[in-house]
Amino acid sequence: MATILPSPPRVGMVSLGCPKALVDSERILTKLRADGYQMSPDYAGADVVLVNTCGFLDSAKEESLEAIGEAIAENGRVVVTGCMGNDADIIRARFPSVLAVTGPQQYDAVVAAVHEAAPPVPNAYLDLVPSANVGPGVKLTPRHYSYLKISEGCNHRCAFCIIPSIRGDLVSRRPDAILREAEKLVAAGTRELLVISQDTSAYGLDLKHAAWPWKGEPVRAHMTDLARELGNLGAWVRLHYVYPYPHVDRVIPLMAEGLVLPYLDIPFQHASPKILKAMKRPANEARVLERIGQWRDLCPEIAIRSSFVVGFPGETEEDFQYLLDWLTEARLDRVGAFRFEPVEGAAANALPDPVPEEVKEQRYARIMELTARISAEKLAAKVGSTLDVLIDAVDGEGATGRSKADAPEIDGEVHLRDAGHLNPGDIVRVTIEDADEHDLFGVAVAG
Ligand code: SF4
Repeated sequence: MATILPSPPRVGMVSLGCPKALVDSERILTKLRADGYQMSPDYAGADVVLVNTCGFLDSAKEESLEAIGEAIAENGRVVVTGCMGNDADIIRARFPSVLAVTGPQQYDAVVAAVHEAAPPVPNAYLDLVPSANVGPGVKLTPRHYSYLKISEGCNHRCAFCIIPSIRGDLVSRRPDAILREAEKLVAAGTRELLVISQDTSAYGLDLKHAAWPWKGEPVRAHMTDLARELGNLGAWVRLHYVYPYPHVDRVIPLMAEGLVLPYLDIPFQHASPKILKAMKRPANEARVLERIGQWRDLCPEIAIRSSFVVGFPGETEEDFQYLLDWLTEARLDRVGAFRFEPVEGAAANALPDPVPEEVKEQRYARIMELTARISAEKLAAKVGSTLDVLIDAVDGEGATGRSKADAPEIDGEVHLRDAGHLNPGDIVRVTIEDADEHDLFGVAVAG
C-alpha cells in the first residue's frame, strides 16, 4: 500500500532591498527548505508569506510597508523580517494582523515564526531532504550568477547612513566557509560570483586577518587572499563595495592576471574634500585620481563603477563643481547618482545648510548629463572590439548578456542579434557593432 505523505506547507517570499538582503532571503529559504517547506510563487498558494524588508531610506520603508499591506490583503498570513524589523512598532501599528516581526539576520527567529505560522510536516525528511548539505541552497538570482556575502555590518559611521545601527559592527565570515560556499555554487552552475558586504576592503579586520586552512594551504581573512582563491575556482569574480584603502592596489594585479574581473565598484559618494569630511567617509584621501590612473596603467581594461550623492547638507555650488570637474577627469565607466535624502536616525540630518530641493534636482540633472556623456563616449570606443559576454537571457532570436564591465541589475547590457542558439550562462565572444549611453549591441562570433 502506498504511503500518503501530508503535503508540505508552502512559503511565499517577497524580497526587497539590496543584494545583501537578497542573500538573507536565500539563507532563510534554504533553511526552510531544509525543514521540509516548499516555495510558493504566488500569494494564493502560500500558507504563509515572508516579507524581507528594506529600511535604509524613507522611500524604501514606504515601499516595504506597501509590500506588507499587499501581502496581508492577498494572503493574510504574513511574517516580516529584514532591516525594517527594527521598526516593529510602526509595522504593528499599521498592520496589527502581522504574525511576527523579526530584524535583519535573525535567521533563527524568522524560521521559528514560520514554524509557528505553518508547522512543518512530520515526515518531511522522507522525501524533501534539501540540497543544503550537497548543493548551494535556495537561490533567488538566476543559476549562472550568485551573490556571495563575505561579511555583515560596518565599522564606519558615515553621516548619512544608519546601516551600522541596524546591522552592527563588522563581522567577517571565515575564508574557508566562504570558499566552500563559492565552490559549491560553481559546481552547481554559477559562472559569476558577486562578492558583497558593506565594506569589502575591510574584510577580515575583526578576525585580525587570521589564516584558516583551505585545500592544505593557509588562507588569510583578507580581501586580496580571498579574491585570489575565489579567482582560482574558475568563475568570474566581481568585487562590490570596495573602499579605496591603500591595500586595494594589491587586487589590481589579480585583475591584470585575469583571476578577478577587471571591475571595481567603489562608492565614492563625493569628491570635494570638505563634503567627504562632513560625510565621514572612509578612505577619504586626496590621491584617488592619481591612484585610478595607476590602476589603469596596471590593468587598462579595468571598469570603475561608483555612486554619488548630490545635495548633501552644506554642498555649495563650488563643492558641486569640484565633483563635476573630478568626474570629468576620472572618466568613470559607470556612475549612479542620488539626491540626498534624510534617513531617520542619520547624523547628517542635524547638519546645517540643507540644500533646497530645486537645487538638488538641478545638480542631479547636471551630474546625470555629464556621466551619461562620458559613458556614451567610453562605450562608443568599444565598437569594433570583441568582448567576452555572459548570457543572461535568450528571447527568440535575440539575447542579452553582460561584459566583464557590467554587473547585473546596476550596469549596462550587451544586446545580441541572431543569438537564439545561446543559453543563459553561456560565455561567448561578441563583436560590438553599436553603442548608446548605457548598452552595447553586437553579434556572437566563433572562439
Ligand atoms: S561604509 Fe558608510 S555608507 Fe557604507 S555601510 Fe558603512 S557607514 Fe554605511
